[in-house]
Amino acid sequence: MAIDPVRAEARRLLTLCNVCKYCNGYCELFRAAERRRDFADAELDYLAHLCHNCRNCWQACQYAPPHPFAVNLPRALAELRLRSQRDLAWPRPLPGLGLVVLAATLLPLLLTLALVPPELLFASHFGPGAFYRVIPWGVMSLAAALPLGWSLLALAQGVARLWRDGGVRLRDVPARVALAALADAVSLRNLSGGGAGCDEGDGTLSQRRRRLHHLLAGGMAACFAATVVATFYHHGLDWPAPYPWHSAPVLLGTLGGFGLMAGALGLLALRHGADPGPVAPAAAAADRLLLAQILAVAASGLALLLLRDGPAMGILLALHLGTVLGLFVALPHGKFAHAPYRAVALLRAALERSDHAS
Ligand code: SF4
Ligand code: SF4
Repeated sequence: MAIDPVRAEARRLLTLCNVCKYCNGYCELFRAAERRRDFADAELDYLAHLCHNCRNCWQACQYAPPHPFAVNLPRALAELRLRSQRDLAWPRPLPGLGLVVLAATLLPLLLTLALVPPELLFASHFGPGAFYRVIPWGVMSLAAALPLGWSLLALAQGVARLWRDGGVRLRDVPARVALAALADAVSLRNLSGGGAGCDEGDGTLSQRRRRLHHLLAGGMAACFAATVVATFYHHGLDWPAPYPWHSAPVLLGTLGGFGLMAGALGLLALRHGADPGPVAPAAAAADRLLLAQILAVAASGLALLLLRDGPAMGILLALHLGTVLGLFVALPHGKFAHAPYRAVALLRAALERSDHAS
């Protein structure tokens, strides 16, 4: 069988780290690696998803290039995470994810321009159901539900496979262990570099990346809550969108939109001028794609909110729908997928900690 160079490099580095142990205080990965004598492929995938890419071990490593050992763990693990996501998820990604995302993003706009008569598309629409006079509710729901369902299926398959590789049944996980893993996932404890913070890209340690990730997560949660409340209004109260400025969906959506923009812009700013040494080019491209998509979703959503009573509403609605579809299409194979894979790895690590302590 051909040797996979990505996994071979991760195996080489983790074997060295297990001898060195200098970075054991930085994150869960080193402690999990220390509990192993060898690294089968499935174990390497699990360990790669434990890494939060804080880069502190890159800054600290006395064996980093130009040392002949050439240790660059953040880069090797970032490459392995992408490889692992590609191998574990099913259906497999189509070649050229960026182009697929672009096509999905532009499709609703092109179809709207082609199929909706201009006198309807560029008219001003008011009152309940105004959006659905341009794009019918059923079309909009189906256009979102199909790619989301497909992507969630692929993601769930991949995440389930990563968990199954650990050989533990979910029902055998004690509640206190699940809670400990949940606390690790929510707090992003492993992105704090053992407490002092993570590398900003120039050797400075701070909690900024962690806070910006929290801002993004909060923005997504608020947008999700806005969608849930709007769905209840539509189906439960027979009250279709758009909703007034002071309504819960609009307030939550606005809060979420600004949170997403602030988080994405902050993370992009941190990348500017950062040391490229520990960065895996493919992972950096996936990062940029996700941040650009988040910005596009938030900006188009806020613009739609601001201009919904004018003639630009139809175009902005199609554009916003497209940005959301693009996000859904990239879900199982892009950077976002790291979050559920990481949650599974953290659960397994919490279980190992608990077994080790008892
Ligand atoms: S990253 Fe470098 S310093 Fe840290 S444990 Fe590995 S070999 Fe040692
Ligand atoms: S980059 Fe950070 S999270 Fe990843 S292995 Fe190194 S210290 Fe741990």
